Amino acid sequence: MNVDSILNGVVIDHIEAGSGMRLYDLLGLDEVDVSVAIIKNVTSRKMGKKDIIKIDGEVPIDFDLIGFVDPEATLNIIKDGKLMEKKRIDMPLELRNVIKCKNPRCITSCEQELPHVFKLTDKDNKVYRCIYCETKAN
Ligand code: ZN
Repeated sequence: MNVDSILNGVVIDHIEAGSGMRLYDLLGLDEVDVSVAIIKNVTSRKMGKKDIIKIDGEVPIDFDLIGFVDPEATLNIIKDGKLMEKKRIDMPLELRNVIKCKNPRCITSCEQELPHVFKLTDKDNKVYRCIYCETKAN
């Protein structure tokens, strides 16, 4: 895969250095069957260092996860080799079934059918809390 010439796909740019792998995991990119590249610690004039994820192909992406991991990241949607759209994803107010509560005493640990829901409780500090037990997401 030539990482510079994506025909149809998505480039997630300006990810805070060190967060690229976490976003890759949360997006489930290890399970897709298209080419995916993570480029870590790219020198950026604006940020010092950044991570970039390039997805060469059309895969369903939960955009909320990008806003959750790094609302400063930019999403570039590429169609037919051209940049169609460039946008940022705001921090979602609610995360549903994307991350799990880590508190072993949380009701979601024993009630398997309950949805895992986190609410943004502190936007400035990017804090999400489980709606059942208020444990912080991390
Ligand atoms: Zn919980």
